[in-house]
Amino acid sequence: MSKTYKITLLPGDGIGPEVVAESVKLLDAIAEKSEFSFEYTTANAGGAAIDAHNDPMPQSTVDACKASDAVLLGAVGGPKWDELTGAMRPESGLLKIRKELGTFANLRPVAVPASLAESSPLRAEAVAGVDLLTVRELTGGIYFGQPVGNDGFEAFNTMRYTVPEIERVARVAFEWARKRRNKVTSVDKANVLEVSRLWRDTVKRLHAAEFSDVELDHMYIDNATMQMVINPRQFDVILTGNIFGDILSDTSATLGGSLGLLPSASIGSGVGLFEPVHGSAPDIAGQGKANPIAMILSTAMMLDHLGEGAAATAIRNGLEAALKQPLRTGDLCTKGHTLASTSELGDLIRAETLKHL
Ligand code: NAD
Repeated sequence: MSKTYKITLLPGDGIGPEVVAESVKLLDAIAEKSEFSFEYTTANAGGAAIDAHNDPMPQSTVDACKASDAVLLGAVGGPKWDELTGAMRPESGLLKIRKELGTFANLRPVAVPASLAESSPLRAEAVAGVDLLTVRELTGGIYFGQPVGNDGFEAFNTMRYTVPEIERVARVAFEWARKRRNKVTSVDKANVLEVSRLWRDTVKRLHAAEFSDVELDHMYIDNATMQMVINPRQFDVILTGNIFGDILSDTSATLGGSLGLLPSASIGSGVGLFEPVHGSAPDIAGQGKANPIAMILSTAMMLDHLGEGAAATAIRNGLEAALKQPLRTGDLCTKGHTLASTSELGDLIRAETLKHL
């Protein structure tokens, strides 16, 4: 009997609905040629949910997400809701759903095929062939550690990690390395921070006990940031904590030359959340200018997570074939390219994906 995956769609705001629509067309086309299918529930999130329910992440949306196999999210936010504060901000809806789903690991892959290297702000020869994955701890560290305080004269945050928190995210990194080029670089600040010393000792111990087949090295965050710019090709899987991962994955995001290329996955022990790294891009929303690639690659990560690796690979191969042709959305359209709309590029990627299925 064929399998039906329940997918909750959270299109959100701005370009979110435009790029999610491309993913749905792609999934439906894949399903037609496969032994599985998709059943969608669309729910409000972010500004759209504030308008409809006065809440950026209503309980009905949380319930729909929890009852599904995976969640695909477009983007949230925009000028219309900029004056709102605290829990009413569209972005706080995102923090809520990540917490509700218990997604403790954030995966951000960056790949720069030769066909896109010219768009990079770095030298094309330094970035062509980059293929790295940052695994960032997402629910602990200094962003969540207590105590936190600010009396107007002195302010403080607390960076804390426990061994189980480090082990569970390190396991994700080692397991991904086994599916890739078998190398993990653990990034910390163990020369200064006590919490980093625990991080490093825990990663080493887990490596020796369960993952000694994977190559492991350690790097300080300051050096890692520099290496990301000088020689990003050395990295396969980068494992790091919340704040270092925030900085390092944004640095890696510049390598490909457009935010419109970068997918992400937030995973834990249950339902995963798959979303592009970019925001709602209000400046181009509603004009068919958005690059759908980040959303499409997030969809491939979802398929991998659901165990449909062949379909995920077909998307990646289809995208590579599509990018050998000159069609580009405005963010990547330079000399020698032909300007495409969101759906024109989506159509091309879909057609190429089906050839690889
Ligand atoms: P942004 O990522 O929306 O846009 C930054 C720039 O990149 C803009 O010039 C935009 O046009 C361009 N861009 C982004 N995605 C693109 C795509 N797919 N194709 C082509 N160009 C693209 O960041 P911002 O302008 O700082 O934020 C806009 C809104 O999005 C804000 O409300 C912000 O809070 C929100 N935001 C949401 C998320 C999220 O939903 N995960 C992430 C970041 C920002």
